[in-house]
This record gives sequence, C-alpha cells and structure tokens, in this order.
Amino acid sequence: MSDRLCLVHYHEIGLKGKNRSTFENQLVHNLNRAMRGTGVSRIARISGYIVVEVEGGNATPEIAQIIARVPGVARVSLAYRCNLDEREYCRAAIDVMREAGDFYTFKVHARRSSTAYPIHTLEMNRIVGTALCEAFPEKKVEMHQPDLQVVVHAVQGSAYVYARGIRGVGGLPVGTAGKVVTLLSSGFDSPVATWMVGRRGAVCIPIHFSGRPMTADTSEYLTQDICCALAPSGCIGRLYVVPFGDHQREIALAVPQELRVIMYRRVMLSVAERLAAIEGAKAIVTGESLGQVASQTLDNIAAVDEAVSLPILRPLIGSDKTEIMARAEQIGTAEISSQAAPDCCTLFMPKRPETHARLSAVLEAEALFDKDAMVDDLLQLMEYRDFDGCPSYHPPKVLRAHHAELLPADYRPKTR
Ligand code: ATP
Ligand code: MG
Repeated sequence: MSDRLCLVHYHEIGLKGKNRSTFENQLVHNLNRAMRGTGVSRIARISGYIVVEVEGGNATPEIAQIIARVPGVARVSLAYRCNLDEREYCRAAIDVMREAGDFYTFKVHARRSSTAYPIHTLEMNRIVGTALCEAFPEKKVEMHQPDLQVVVHAVQGSAYVYARGIRGVGGLPVGTAGKVVTLLSSGFDSPVATWMVGRRGAVCIPIHFSGRPMTADTSEYLTQDICCALAPSGCIGRLYVVPFGDHQREIALAVPQELRVIMYRRVMLSVAERLAAIEGAKAIVTGESLGQVASQTLDNIAAVDEAVSLPILRPLIGSDKTEIMARAEQIGTAEISSQAAPDCCTLFMPKRPETHARLSAVLEAEALFDKDAMVDDLLQLMEYRDFDGCPSYHPPKVLRAHHAELLPADYRPKTR
C-alpha cells in the first residue's frame, strides 16, 4: 500500500547551522497557513525534508504548485510513501517512472536515513534498477547525467520514492528576517521589490500614497489587488493607504517646481519611517533602480535618503526593466500593474524635474512648509486593510487603539 504526498526540499535553510530548526519550524508554520482549505492533513519534518500529507493520501500537482510559491521552498516532489519492503518500493518506482513523461536514460539513487533497515543502498540500487529495467526494457541506465533520477529514500520505517519535482521560489521562510515597510505604487517595480524582500524572509508592510482627493482612488484598488496577488507567499501583513493629494498640492505651491518630486519622496519616506516605528519595522524598501527615471539618480537618491535615518533597501537598484517585468509576470502582478491609474506620482508633476539635487537647496525648500505637521496629518489620515495569510504578522496594538478613536463608528477598511 502506498500513499501520495509532497516532499518539500530546502537548500538555504539546510546551510544554516545552529538555528536551522528555527528556520525549519517557521517553514512548517508558514506551510500550514498557506495550505489551509486545500485538504492537507499533516505537515511534518523528516530527515532533511518537510512532508505534506493530504486527506485520502492522494496529493496532486496543484497542491505542489501552491507549496512551491512559499518562500524557503527550493523544490517540491510528488512522492509515493510505502512500507520498507522491496516489492512495495519497486512497484512505487515503476509508477514514478510511468508518470515521468519524456525521458530515455535513467538512474536509481537509493538513500538510507534509518540504520534499522538492513539492506545497503548499493543493494537497494541494484534491486530497484533490475525491476525498472524489466518493466521498461526500452529505457537505458546512465550513471552520469541521466535524463531521470529515481530516488528511493528509506526513512523511519517507510520508503519515499520520487523522481521529478517542480522548482520552488527559494529564499527563506517569511518571519525569519524581521519586518520592513515597503513603498508600494501600482507600477511594475515596487511589487517586485516587495516580493524580493519577502522571499528573503521579511514580513512586508506596504504603504501606498494615493492622489485622493485630487484623483480617483483607482490606484488604491490596484495596490490591494497587488497585495492579494502576493499574499499566497505569506509575506504581506497589512496594506496602509495614505490619501496624499491635498498635501501634494500644498507642497507644489510652496517649493520650487523642479524640487517637487524630491519633496514628495522625502515626505513619503518620513511617513513610512513613522509607520515603521509603530509597526516595529527595521527598514524601508523601494522599487527604485538606478537611473530609471529622473528621481533615481545618485544625487537625488542621496537627497531623498537624508530625510530618514532608517536603512532604505532597494532590491532592484541594479535590475533592468525587462528583468523586472519578467519577474512581475512570474509573481502575478504584471497584469495589475499594466492598468494605468493616476496616483500621487502623476499629480502636480514639474515640467523639468531636478536630476542632480543639492541637499542645501532641498533643505532650504523644505523650510518653506511645515513638514512635521504634514507628516502628523498624513498619519492621521492613514487607512489600512489586512491580508490574512502572513502567520508572522501581529498588528501593532497602539495603532488599533488609536484608530478606534480616530475613525467614525461606521468605518470599514476599503474593500472592493
Ligand atoms: P514602480 O516603481 O512601483 O514601478 P513607478 O516606477 O511609477 O512605480 P517611481 O517614480 O519609479 O514609481 O518611484 C520609485 C519608487 O518610489 C517606487 O518603486 C515605490 O517604491 C515608490 N513610490 C512611487 N510612487 C509611490 C506611491 N504612490 N506610493 C508609495 N510608494 C511609491
Ligand atoms: Mg519605477
């Protein structure tokens, strides 16, 4: 008797020394959340894998696909599990080979993590190899670079048999790298930047600045859709939305035209930094890439960074637009980002933005309006929406109490 389950392989966690089990436990925890409602009955660690069992013992490729999107997962194989009995694991190996699709050469790779099983791996290779050669006389054994490798792994009284697998997103389990606030627009870049730090184990708290009330709220819905697309990876905690239109107008009226964009960015970063303090986040993330647009020259980046003291992470700084677009396709945000929507960045744009800002000029311009009061005001206007999917996200208590005071009794977070 054999059942079908998913074997989750991880590479980078395997390299961790003493805290390896912390990473493994976090991955099990995240998988449990990601697999809710899919019929998964048990998720457990065994000998360098995580085993995902399904009710009825019949895991499917669809289940493997969901697992593959969870950060920390390097590979997922659909495997048969049977008793440590030669006839049973040979039959499973034949089934695995029958389902393997196109290949000509193969090899058997036996492994043994349970010393209680008396048959040596060389002998297991021979037994399974002979059975496969009999069942598939047209296939050829090839020890170096075979098209297909059939693995038979003896672990704790069971044999796990599998061949092909699908690639996972890799990285580290969300919740192992702390929290970040990510500046999220509805463009192509910042969703990719958010996903990239999420894949490295960070819980992401996106903040979006919309042009409301000077523009429609379309960009807010698009950023919500982006968060929904990223949520299955488990990296999105809560989306904050700040209506920035009125305040942008105030900035546009106060500062020299060419410095407007830099000033919008400095205000956005200052709000993000205050939010980071509330959320306990330790860095701010943006989707900038060097030289992509006028605001992304080294001079302007320096003039903007000066506004805050938290580290600013720019995971896309060396990426080309084509690489970013390809990644956006892969993570499911490209189609949403291709829908143009006015947001705060399209409002009050200068004809000739400064490309090489001098900090002294920027600070002079900043003295022309009350930036601290503006940041306070924007924090009061901030709204949020939660995404149930990030097991490591705990909302800040202080904000909950604060919002209860601020919001009208009939307030509901915006949903579509
Ligand atoms: P994206 O970078 O998301 O594709 P974009 O290219 O329209 O959007 P840029 O002008 O390149 O935006 O802005 C650089 C970065 O500033 C963005 O990657 C994002 O991190 C941040 N940003 C821009 N607009 C907004 C916004 N409306 N709300 C929050 N963050 C924003
Ligand atoms: Mg951009």
